[in-house]
Amino acid sequence: MFIILRKRNIAWFLSAMLFFGVSWSGYHLAMHPAMKKWQQENILVSKIDTEEKVVALTYDDGPDPVNTPAVLDALKKHKAQATFFVLGKRVAAQPEIIKRMKAEGHEIGSHGYSHPDYNKYKKAGIADDIIRTSEAIRKASGDNPSWFRPPGGYLSYDMVDICREHNLTIAYWTYQQDSKDWRNGVGAGQIAGHITRHLEPGQIIVLHDGAPNGLQTAKATDLLLSALKKQGYRVVTMSELIKAGKQ
Ligand SMILES: [Zn+2]
Repeated sequence: MFIILRKRNIAWFLSAMLFFGVSWSGYHLAMHPAMKKWQQENILVSKIDTEEKVVALTYDDGPDPVNTPAVLDALKKHKAQATFFVLGKRVAAQPEIIKRMKAEGHEIGSHGYSHPDYNKYKKAGIADDIIRTSEAIRKASGDNPSWFRPPGGYLSYDMVDICREHNLTIAYWTYQQDSKDWRNGVGAGQIAGHITRHLEPGQIIVLHDGAPNGLQTAKATDLLLSALKKQGYRVVTMSELIKAGKQ
């Protein structure tokens, strides 16, 4: 009886492993089959290889007139620099927030003009949207962005070609570091807790200053930066993160 049970347990274990393995690789394939190749070509980054305790904090979908200044205040309190992936439309409406980001040492990346669904666009349409967003950022900040975060995590060969042509590197995020902070009702403690539980050197942490739940994201930023400091982590922009990577 004991032996039968054990055999059964092993069979259970093996089928669970198989199921997990299949769904895991399925998930990665679902992102895009060329993801690894793009990482090797340094056109896309989702994590860097390093033993140094360093991570990049990134904020999407802003600038928002209320949430973004709250996030900026939290970063300022802890003397930390982050990268903001902004929407062209919101940049044009609130250039003063972009100027503050730049003055306080943050990096500004592109996230498309109005959070477009590129699945519905042809190549020329994606190119127009990306160019238009870069122009809005340049107008507000004086600089062309060098990072692009695809809205909704969309990836395609066409989009990657366009980024290459316009000197934009794709800043994806580290899969484990998506705390879903944008969901209404998710509290600051939950957001910071998710991030600290999954923390590893070289990660790109995704947060959302532009979502309606953004004030919780701002509070989470404060909690998180205290926790990161205690653990000896350095918080940097995307460009600084790349420099910390192994050559
Ligand atoms: Zn977004």
